[in-house]
Order: sequence, then structure tokens, then C-alpha cells
Amino acid sequence: MKRFVPFLILAAASILLAQAPNPVVLRTSAGDRPITSTQQAGQTLFAADDVITLLGGTVVHDATGFRATINNTVAAFGPDSQVGVVREELIEMPIAPVVIDNRAFVPWQFFQGFLSRAMDHDVSWDPGTRVLSIRPAQHAVVAVQVSVTNIEGISKVVLTLSAPAEYTMTRDPDAYTIHFRGMIRPPFGEQTYDDPYLKKATFIGNDLRIQFKVPDVVGDAYRLENPFRIVIDFRKGAAPAPGTPSPVFGTRSGESPGIHTIVIDPGHGGKDVGAIGTGGLMEKDATLTLCRKLADALESRLRTRVILTRTDDSVVPLDQRTAIANQYKADLFLSVHLNAAVVKGAHGSETYFLSLDASDELARKAAEVENAAPRTTPSASTTDLRLILWDLAQQEYLNESSRFAQDVQEEMNRATGVQNRGVKQAPFKVLVGATMPAALVEVGFISNPDEEAKLKSDEFQARVIDALTTAVERYKIDYETRIGVIHPTATPPPAPAANATSAAKRSGT
Ligand SMILES: [Zn+2]
Repeated sequence: MKRFVPFLILAAASILLAQAPNPVVLRTSAGDRPITSTQQAGQTLFAADDVITLLGGTVVHDATGFRATINNTVAAFGPDSQVGVVREELIEMPIAPVVIDNRAFVPWQFFQGFLSRAMDHDVSWDPGTRVLSIRPAQHAVVAVQVSVTNIEGISKVVLTLSAPAEYTMTRDPDAYTIHFRGMIRPPFGEQTYDDPYLKKATFIGNDLRIQFKVPDVVGDAYRLENPFRIVIDFRKGAAPAPGTPSPVFGTRSGESPGIHTIVIDPGHGGKDVGAIGTGGLMEKDATLTLCRKLADALESRLRTRVILTRTDDSVVPLDQRTAIANQYKADLFLSVHLNAAVVKGAHGSETYFLSLDASDELARKAAEVENAAPRTTPSASTTDLRLILWDLAQQEYLNESSRFAQDVQEEMNRATGVQNRGVKQAPFKVLVGATMPAALVEVGFISNPDEEAKLKSDEFQARVIDALTTAVERYKIDYETRIGVIHPTATPPPAPAANATSAAKRSGT
């Protein structure tokens, strides 16, 4: 019998070997190295510390999650969340990382999102050979399409790329130049435009030069994914002094502290229609109408810069809405929605700020409804919030968001004279990732026929616009007073009564 024992051990070992997948190899310019991996829901996950350490970085684990660092670039991620964060941008993963023996295991998409930004490297995973390759980005030839449209006084230039590309921008007194780091295939050599601000676009090598027709044009740039687009909004504004280096994104750095840029987010859009009233009013249309008017009111009354996350009936994924606000370095974010009744006969407005823990059952329900927007990217559960809350310093803004939400709610109550539904906390996805005070207002119940009818009237719309403008103004003055930008004795806040009369005056606009 003894003779069979080695045979049995061998047989058992071979069964184990047959079941265990081959080891994963990390392939870099330094050669091949085995790394630790695990299988999870049909996906291969890789030990983050193995990969990051081999590339010269670090991974640390604390009470709140994991932080990977390479070249001073930090990526934050954690179990339970399919979204990581690097440089205020989101890394989407098909499944959430897992923790085994205190080590984080992540899908290869995490490395792709992180390393492309931290070291301009490409990552690919071949499940057949079980090789994870990490190498300097190749920057293959990228096809560029250019479109120029003028909407409401803004000339929007959209560059649609066949693949993501690295680029920088510079501005001269009479032009913007986008320098692509890799090879591009331009759609034309030169194109002139019948546009109030823009004269022509010229491709020279890997540069695109956009020349202005008039002086004093400023541009704001941001990026959108899937497909990769570079969007530049040109508008009338004071050009910087010649020779001033141009920021690629936003203007917050160097600007005096305070509330200067406000992003207004009209809820829903495109095939995501939102709630629909019994009279047929669609939330996506009502929010766009309100937000366009609100943008005008804020610009003229507060002289702040206002950016809308959408200006037409287009689909904008929830995470891109705050990404736009972050790219613009906005100081305040307000998402505008209309409620659908969870309770029959419900009416009035509600204001929310972001929290993982919904303040009551109805708040949680409201968040679920708003979060259910169709997605163009892999879905991420509300547990995503756990990660982003701690990392993105949204904690830092919760107190400010709460104050802002309070101002919004009070002004809405005053203007509409309806019952106070109050300020609530709920895990609204559209507020996730905002690196500024952010709130979401449900202006009224579109599902309530009385409120639906009111929402269609210019008079009621004007009251709402005035209430929201006053709320932003109140918050701005309150905030700027607290940080010492304005002194209460020198600039007293306007009395609420004065605003009520100005509402009537402006109701025709
Ligand atoms: Zn909504």
C-alpha cells in the first residue's frame, strides 16, 4: 500500500495544478516578473502593491482605503467601489477591488487609468497568455474631427478624437493653439468659419491653431470621454496680457478667493427624460428651460461666470456633470431637478446635499430615482460614494454644501409659499466627486398636476429663478464674508424684501 502514497500525492497535486490558473506575468521594459493575482466574478484581479512597487511607487492602506502613489500622482481606491480617483478624475473598473490578507487586488483597468496619468504608460491584459503589459504610451496616429457651433453667445469647438490623446494648450492674443503630443490625422489643412468669434482653424504638424475674429475672446476647455472629446467654449471676455501663460483648465488658481464660477446642472437630457407629468411635461425639458434662465439671471445679477452642464437636449452621464464642474474649477455646483411623487399629493421643493446616509426613507427613494439615469459606462453602485466621500475632500465641502442647501431651501420656501419639505441628505450620484460645495434642488413635483401647470408658467418660473439666484447670492455673500473677502460693514447683504420686488420686475425676461 505504501507504494501508492506518492502516486496519490502526485495525482492530487496535478489536480490542484490543473485547477489553479497559470501565474500572471507583469511585462515591463525591465523584463518579466511574476505577480500575485486572484479570480473574482470571472475577472482576474492583480495585487496592486506588486505592480505599483515594481514600477517604483507605493501602495498604502489606511482606515479609509488604499492610496497608490507614482511620480507624486496619487490614486485612491477601495473595496466596495468600482470607481477610483486620480487627479479629481474617476477611474472606472468593471468590478470593485477586493482585499485579501490586507492587500488590494484590482482589475487591470485600474492600472490603465492610473498609469496613463501618472507616467503616460499604456496597460494591456492578455487573458490567454496571462501577461499584463505596461509600457510607454505609443501615441498612435489619432484622427481628429472638428465642429464649431455658436449657441447662446458661446462658440463651442468640439474636437472628437479617434482615441484619447495627450495635449497642451497655449493662447496668444489672437489665437488658441492645441499641441497634440502624438501624431494626429487632421480632417483639413485650414477651415474658415462663419462665427462671431472664430475666424479659422489651421492644422500645422501636430498643432491646431484656432484664430479669433475679434479681440477679447476667452476660451474654457474641458474633456469628455467615450468618444474622447476636447471641448473649448469661446466667449467674449477680457483677454490676458500678452505673454501670460494660459491655464489649460479653469481659472480658479490665481483668482481671488470667493464664488466666481458656478456650474448649473439641468437634470437629465436626451433619452434620459426624467420624470413625466400627467400633462406631458418632461423633467429634462423643464430643467433645461429653468437652468438657461437661471444662468442668465446669475450672470447679470451676480456677475459670476456660469457654466451649464448641458445647453441642449443631450445625454450627459452623471459623473461627467461634476467632472465638468471640476475641470472649470467651479466654486459652486447646483443640480436642478423636478420631483416625482413617492407619496400621493406631495408638493413643494426639496434641497439635498450629498451624504452616504439618506436622512430619511423618502430622501433615499428620491436619490434612487435620480440615480437611475441610463448609463453609457459600466454601472457603479451607490457604494461608490464610500470611496469618493473620503478621498475627494467632499467631506471638506459637506458643511458648505449644507449651508448652501439651506439657503436654497429657504429661498424656495419664501418664493413658492409652499410647505417646507426641508434640507435633506441623500447619496445623489450627480453630486459625487464635486470638489466644491454642491446641492441638488427638486424645484417641485412634476407628478402633481397643479405643480406641473405652475412649472409651465413664466410667472412661476420667474419666481423660482429669483429664489435660486437670491439663494446663490446669499450663500456667496455669507461665504465671502466668512473668508474675509468682503467685510460686512462695507457691503451689507441685500435685504430679502428687495429681492422679492426685483423678482416681479424680472418676471418678463
Ligand atoms: Zn431628476
